[in-house]
Order: sequence, then C-alpha cells, then structure tokens
Amino acid sequence: MLNNQGPGTTPQIQRLIDEFNRLPGIGVKSAQRLAYYLIRMPVAQSEDLSDAILSVKKHIKYCSNCFNLTDQDPCNICQNSRRNEKLMCVVEQAMDVLAFEKAGFNGLYHVLHGAISPIDGIGPENLKIQNLIDRIKSNLFEEIILSTNPTTTGDATALYISRLIQDEPSINIRITIPARGLSVGGDLEYADQDTLRRALDGRRDL
Ligand code: ZN
Repeated sequence: MLNNQGPGTTPQIQRLIDEFNRLPGIGVKSAQRLAYYLIRMPVAQSEDLSDAILSVKKHIKYCSNCFNLTDQDPCNICQNSRRNEKLMCVVEQAMDVLAFEKAGFNGLYHVLHGAISPIDGIGPENLKIQNLIDRIKSNLFEEIILSTNPTTTGDATALYISRLIQDEPSINIRITIPARGLSVGGDLEYADQDTLRRALDGRRDL
C-alpha cells in the first residue's frame, strides 16, 4: 500500500485510490477521479462492478488447448467445428484474439502469453511455445500465421518459433506473417479491424 493518506480523505477512500493506482496506466490523478466517481455511484451499480470482478476471477481460466481465456475448457473457438482447423494464428495476448475475431479471422488460435524478452527475464520456457509445437505435431494444420506484435520482442519471438518449426522434420507446415500495414512498434490490440484484415489478407511466407 502506498499509505500516503493526506488531509481531506479517509483510510477507506485512500485504500480505494491506492488500489486503482496499482492498475496499469492509472496514475494518482486518475485513481482519485475513479475513486470519487465510485463513491457517488448508486450502491447497486457498485455491487455489479465488484461482482463482475469477482466473477471473472472465479470462472475465467485458460483453454488447455489454445490458452485463450475461457469459462469452459476447451474454449468455444476450439470447440466450434465450423472454424478452419487447418489455419492457426499465433498471438501474444488473449486480447489479440478479440482483435482478430473482429477482423473476421475464422481459423484457430494459440496464445503465447507474452514475447521472448531476455532483458525482462522472459525466455521461451516462460511462454506457451512448447505447447504450440506439440499442438502442431498432433494436428493437421496447413498454415501457421505468426501474428506476434510488430515490435523487437514480437519479431524475435516469431523468428524463434519459425526456426523451431523448421528444425522439426516431422512438421510440414506453411509459415506466414501478416503484412506490415501495422505501425511499427504498435500493439496488435490497438489495430483497427480493417487494418488487421488487410494485414491478414496480405500475409506472406516467412
Ligand atoms: Zn481454445
């Protein structure tokens, strides 16, 4: 806890401000604004909010197949027989799946849960990379689209995975990457759906 309660507030209010301040992208000013907004909120609405938070903590888990977030295992994408089971899109974060779904992607996914970043102490063993290789080996995928973020770490991760696949004689699969209409250094989750759709349509062999 930051424990920086000043005059004009109370321990309860300060606790709420501190909790908001711990969230990504929320500075002290924003944390204060949110806390005071919440205090003015009707009780029923604040109960809905706290219930929504507790509900995702209780029910949301990783799909044991693709590692997307789900409330059922396997997730509804992996279970859907109308999806193209020959096409796999590899992404860094579960939020990226949302973006690709909005862009109309109809294949399956694999969520890595990050990118290789030695400076942050994140190696291949910290990501769902071995699960990916195992999954490719035991399924009939024809193409894998390496859709990691267009960043240094994202590119390094895509390269690492492609080498791993190429070094595996038992795997025969086309490896592609989305076209770089995306701004360099940008996160996929912020790409609008038209940009993402164009990037998918214009994908090329790695
Ligand atoms: Zn799944």
